[in-house]
Amino acid sequence: MFRNTLKKMDTELQDVVQYTLDINGAKHNMNNYIGKQIKIDWSGEVICSCEKKMNKFYRSGFCYKCYWESPLASQSIFKPELCTAHLGIEERDLEWEKNFQLAPHYVYLANSSGIKVGITRGTQGVIRWMDQGASQAILLAEVPNRRFSGDIEISLKRFVADVTNWRKMLSGAPEPVDLVQLKEELSLHVPEKLQQYILPNNTVTEIQYPVTQYPKKIKSVKLERTPIIEGKLLGIKGQYLLLDDDRVFNVRSHEGFISAFSHQEIAQQGVLF
Ligand SMILES: [Zn+2]
Repeated sequence: MFRNTLKKMDTELQDVVQYTLDINGAKHNMNNYIGKQIKIDWSGEVICSCEKKMNKFYRSGFCYKCYWESPLASQSIFKPELCTAHLGIEERDLEWEKNFQLAPHYVYLANSSGIKVGITRGTQGVIRWMDQGASQAILLAEVPNRRFSGDIEISLKRFVADVTNWRKMLSGAPEPVDLVQLKEELSLHVPEKLQQYILPNNTVTEIQYPVTQYPKKIKSVKLERTPIIEGKLLGIKGQYLLLDDDRVFNVRSHEGFISAFSHQEIAQQGVLF
């Protein structure tokens, strides 16, 4: 059902992040296409996680019904500090929420467009950082549920951002920051009852992206406005494809778009297929 939709690229941390796009039964190693021509062709339809097909999503990648009823679109998904499953209080579907929220979560600091604080579930840390285009990251705390991670995030938001400035992230690598020192400073502001969850391990993960050229004046392209997007792939960072003419395409924000993907060699070498 979903094999012909765009999904966020799979990432693997190597010397340079390796990106794989899985669509229409093929796994494309996107790093191999840098310097080549790629094409994304949207059918004009999108599909919600409930399998409803439409011409466009109602909001945030959901159909109307899911946006208002699914636990995947509840308020606490966007604001973890509103999570209540640890108290046995239901938001939309207590069983689902218990399963999702009552699991180890991590609070981290990442340097993508400047420093931000974020949270992630289970072992998703590195994947999250690659998806956000972070160049450096460090784990700050490990907590037993999502709510506690939200509480720590809130306490640190006064000092650092909690969102990535994607335009800045796509305009180059950020200045390196001493994350170990920053972690020590910020840890002092974690609420006392949550201090016990601060991690002693200060490993900093450094991440490099396959970018040959950053855009100068970023133009974000979207399939709703341009159903066929094609051009030379100049790099990949976060979940963005960097194309010629300063264009950037956010793969993640097009999840659920029923599309075809193809690639070609450029010029003399001839057409691959
Ligand atoms: Zn739906």
